[in-house]
Amino acid sequence: MNTYSIGIDIGGTNTDIGIVRDDGFIVRRDSLPTDSYDTAEEFMAAITRQIRIMLNDCNLYNLRGIGIGAPNGNYRTVRIEADTANLRIKTPIPLGEYLGAHFEVPVRLDNDANAAAVGEMIYGGARGMQHFIMLTLGTGVGSGIVVDGRLLHGAHGMAGEIGHTTVLPGGRACSCGRSGCLEMYASARGICQNYREALHQSNPSAAEPAGLTCQFVGESAQKGDLVALQAYDVTARWLGVALANAVAFSEPEAVFLMGGPTRAGEVLMKPLRDYFEENLLFLYKGKVKVLLSQLPQNDVAILGAAALGMLND
Ligand SMILES: [Zn+2]
Repeated sequence: MNTYSIGIDIGGTNTDIGIVRDDGFIVRRDSLPTDSYDTAEEFMAAITRQIRIMLNDCNLYNLRGIGIGAPNGNYRTVRIEADTANLRIKTPIPLGEYLGAHFEVPVRLDNDANAAAVGEMIYGGARGMQHFIMLTLGTGVGSGIVVDGRLLHGAHGMAGEIGHTTVLPGGRACSCGRSGCLEMYASARGICQNYREALHQSNPSAAEPAGLTCQFVGESAQKGDLVALQAYDVTARWLGVALANAVAFSEPEAVFLMGGPTRAGEVLMKPLRDYFEENLLFLYKGKVKVLLSQLPQNDVAILGAAALGMLND
């Protein structure tokens, strides 16, 4: 008999809720407007109501667990920490405890990069792997580190910030207050900045394309545009350095990448594999795969959250 997990992905604008079968098939998905709730209590009650409606409609009773992914999700406190930048609700949201009391199944909550890593482990390309690293490239650079089949959480639930490791001391100023973080070269914003610098280098009087986006840089690179290729080469170089360093720490079988900037495909992956190998310690050379996520981009968040609900411990 199939079992099912509820995956809840909380974003500043929308909260997506999905019922996911144990083979990764999304049976049903719905959405609530996160930004229309003023208090944590109202928001949690609405999620609970919605889950009940969905379970009822689908006639499902063998629910195995509930998983929640949120940018400020804390695995240890099982709540979403106050996130004044992204959420309208300004207080912590104790959603894990609340749903646990209402549904009597295990509830796990974590940040979205960790959820993505578990999604890959349960439903995607990391099935059967005990050691891997997931890197999520987007507005920022997040990471989830799996060691011995378990997510690495650290002393306070904050482990896995490879995006804020220094790759270039004294480099670009980062939003975290430091400088030269990987995120400044490998996030969507970072790639746009790489493009600007490469353009200026090739032709100091060239005007920047209006509304420059990472997608534009990726598509231009795929068409062979030399400036865009140079922008991706810079991203690949610093990603290669950061990931080679990360390998020395946890010796993964593979490193996975997902997110908007990875849509550029081989334009990113080919130079990344080269820089990565070049920077690896001899002990690891030729042994660590660099792969793209095998989960469909649009379902990653729901599947990651639902996968948290499938974990056994
Ligand atoms: Zn930083």
